[in-house]
Order: sequence, then structure tokens, then C-alpha cells
Amino acid sequence: MLEVVLAGRYAMSNLLLRELSLAGHRCPIITPDHQDYDRYRKVWNGVVDRRPAAIVRPQNVEDVRKAVHAAAASGALLAVRGGGHSFPGFSTCDGGLVLDLSELAGIAMDRDAHTIEVGGGALLGHLDRATVPEGYVVPAGVISHTGVAGLTLGGGMGWASRRYGLTIDSLLGAEIVTAAGDIVWVSETSDPELFWGIRGGGGNFGVLTRFRFRMHELGSIVVGQWSYPAANTRQALQALRDLAGRQPRDFTLNFTATTTALSVTAVWSGDAALGRLVLSPFGALADGGIGGVDTLSYLSLQSRNDEHFAWSRRYYCKGGFWSEVTDKAIDALLRSIADAPTPDSEISVLQLGGAVADVADDATAYTGREASYYWLAEPVWDDVADDERCTTWGRITGKSLSELSIAGNYVNEQADAGTVVVLDAYGPEKYRRLARLKARVDPHNLFRLNQNITPLA
Ligand SMILES: Cc1cc2nc3c(=O)[nH]c(=O)nc-3n(C[C@H](O)[C@H](O)[C@H](O)COP(=O)(O)OP(=O)(O)OC[C@H]3O[C@@H](n4cnc5c(N)ncnc54)[C@H](O)[C@@H]3O)c2cc1C
Repeated sequence: MLEVVLAGRYAMSNLLLRELSLAGHRCPIITPDHQDYDRYRKVWNGVVDRRPAAIVRPQNVEDVRKAVHAAAASGALLAVRGGGHSFPGFSTCDGGLVLDLSELAGIAMDRDAHTIEVGGGALLGHLDRATVPEGYVVPAGVISHTGVAGLTLGGGMGWASRRYGLTIDSLLGAEIVTAAGDIVWVSETSDPELFWGIRGGGGNFGVLTRFRFRMHELGSIVVGQWSYPAANTRQALQALRDLAGRQPRDFTLNFTATTTALSVTAVWSGDAALGRLVLSPFGALADGGIGGVDTLSYLSLQSRNDEHFAWSRRYYCKGGFWSEVTDKAIDALLRSIADAPTPDSEISVLQLGGAVADVADDATAYTGREASYYWLAEPVWDDVADDERCTTWGRITGKSLSELSIAGNYVNEQADAGTVVVLDAYGPEKYRRLARLKARVDPHNLFRLNQNITPLA
């Protein structure tokens, strides 16, 4: 049986290589005998170790179109890679084609229109380094080496979300290479249904080669960072939720529990003097708090945890939405974190609401806009021998926190995949709408390495 599978895979990769060479690619086709193969096949999560038959690194949208055609014509598995940060490793595969977009990281800003265009392989750091020095922000995530494409396709949340919404709420249009090999521009006026689907529906509908975002005024950033001893977590969280719930949308809270401490970060964007006033009480939530309030550049804020979440460490995660940080949620969090398998494993909670909730839930595929908080249980480890122990903790913790969660979920931060995860994220009604769209634009499910939506039969 194994021999049949291997022979089938061998024939498939030969077909794929033939199709790629017929397409007349000008970009190199990286196969296992290439000296840089191991470098290019690597993705962010060290748990994921796959060996594609070929990797192509397109230089332009025409190269992307040719690669999509080659995968479709040969029947090869196709993995599309933006920043390579998928937790389950969706952006690589065994035996198929990896379409690595990292060369498509170009950025073009239109200052008069307050818009910016970003290539499908750009990272958040590229986007922030273009906008922030000019006094602008596009709301996105909090780690600078994450890919703009994958993050945006799932929704995109971070420090600027309460003020300006999810990343998709600033998306004005995008260029897509479809399964049929068409290159199309989608927006509110050009195929609005597909535009609806790419705002939360993940990579199900094609290869995104260019995004156009609205830019917003950044304002002054004031940041409070405190650490409380783990023993005082309950006391601190009870005070924290009451204080945070009263703040305007210029304010965003994140807290992270580990076995040793509770870290609290409060970010204010807007008037600096007012920010200092609002943030200072967060240093006195419980006994033993250390830290303080400071002005920090937005670029420093956006990269402060880059090293902690470095490439090649080992990760698992499960997330969900809370309407409030209830006493029961605090109990569950305390019980779980006491058993965390490594010192770097964490339960992290980001405040949402504000502008995220201004948009109607059915206006985009993303589901969960009424949530006030997003929680993420994330074991982090380095030794392969700890894989099972750490993953099990992540699953058990995720289950326990999910029981207190509201409907909807964020597809981008689920390390497990499958129909249950996807249905849980979108709910049956939105899932049907996504499945109808999928049947129209990708009936043979060429783009299936994602939180996959099965085309409606
Ligand atoms: C360290 C870290 C920090 C994170 N922080 C945040 C955060 O602050 N806020 C937040 O909202 N999320 C965050 N996330 C989750 C993040 O949004 C997802 O992991 C996202 O999928 C990463 O996108 P990527 O392009 O880097 O990943 P990839 O692995 O390249 O892709 C992820 C998925 O998107 C598809 N895809 C990627 N690029 C394209 C494209 N151009 N066209 C079509 N499909 C494409 C892939 O096929 C795959 O299915 C974080 C993740 C990590 C690992």
C-alpha cells in the first residue's frame, strides 16, 4: 500500500514539475535537490516539518497565475504561503507545491488618499515601518514577523482594533488569482460577495497578491506595562475587568497569565496626558505590581514580543471569545495555568469591542464581533519530547475556556483543523453562505490548505 502511495506521489510530482516547466517560469523552481530547499521549506511553527515536491517564489502576479495553473493541471496539492505563521502549518505540504509569496512584499502609499497597497507576501513589520513614521496606522496584529495576508484573510486584531476595527475593516479592495487562473480585483463594488468572503473566510478563495488598506491617524501612544505575582492573579483580574470595562475605545487591554506572573499591558492612543491619567491605576490592581507608564514608539510596541514567539520554537493554540471576564472565567484560567507545561506557556486575553463591534456581524465572513475579549491558550516549548504533553495541555485548557465562551471563533488562531473547527467558527448560516461562494470560485477545492470550506454540492 505504501509503495502505491509513494508511486502515486512520485508520478504527481513529475506531472507538477512538467507543468511548472511548461509554464515557462522565470522564478526558480526549488526542488529537494536545491541547496536552499531546507531554508525555503521551513515555516514558523517548529512542530511543522513537511517536504513539498517543489517551492516557487513568484516575482509578479503572472508567475502566481502560472503556478496556480500548474497545480490545478497536475492535480498537485497547493499550499499558499504569506508569512508562514499558520499554527497548523497550512502554508506548506508534503509532496505538493508551495507557492511562497515572500518576494511579493512591495508597498505603495498614497498619502493624499490615505491608502496603502501591500503585496501578498508582506509582513506586519513592512506595513508598520511604512505607515508609522508617517503618523498612520493600519490596524493589524502584535508580532512584526506575522504575514499581512494570512492575518487579514482571517480578520486581524491587535492594539488598534478597538479604535479602528479589525484589519478587514480597513480593507478597501484586493487582487486575487482565482482557481480558474483569472486575475480579479474585488471590493464593495466589484464582486462584493467574494469581497465579503475574503474578509474572514481565510485563504479559501484564491491567492491574494495585493491588498489596499485605508490608513488612520496614529496619535500619541502611551503604554502601561505591569507584572503581578501569580499568587495575586485573581485579585488583579477582578480589579482589572472593572477598570478596563469603563474605558473608551482609545484604550486597549491585554493580560497574560503564566505559571509565574500576570503581565498586564494597557495601551492608549490619542491624547498623551489623558492617556497617562487613565493608565496609572492599572499599576495598583493588587499587591506586588511592578512596572509603569511610558511613551513607547508604536514600532517598539509591535515588536516587543517578536523574540518570545521566535521562528522554529514549538507551538499549539486554541482561542475563543468571552463577553466578559467573569468569576467563572477567572477560576478556569487559574486552574489551567497552574498546570501549564512550560514557563513560556500562557493564556493571553485581548480586549475587543469598540470599533470591532460597530460593524454588523453579517457584513463580513469574520464572526464574533460582539465579543468583549478574545482569549488564547498557547503552550510554547522547544523540545520535541514535550510535544504530546504541551499539546494536550493546550487542548484541555482550550476546552475548559471554550465552555465559557460565546458563539463564533477566530479561524486564524486554531491549531486544530477540520469541519468542527470551521463550523464552530462561522456557525451554520455563514458556513452555508461561504460554501456557496466556494462552489462558485473554487468548485474543485484547489485552495484547501486552510480552515477549509467544502464547496456546496
Ligand atoms: C507569532 C504570531 C502572532 C500572531 N499575532 C496575531 C495578532 O496579533 N493578531 C491576529 O489577528 N492574529 C495573530 N496571529 C495569527 C495570524 O493571523 C495567523 O497565524 C495568520 O494565518 C498568519 O498569516 P501568515 O501569512 O503569516 O501565515 P501563512 O502560514 O503564510 O498563511 C496562513 C493561511 O493563510 C493562507 N494565505 C497566506 N497568504 C495568502 C495569500 N497571499 N493568499 C491566499 N491565502 C494566503 C495560507 O494558505 C494559510 O491557509 C499570530 C500568529 C502568530 C504565529
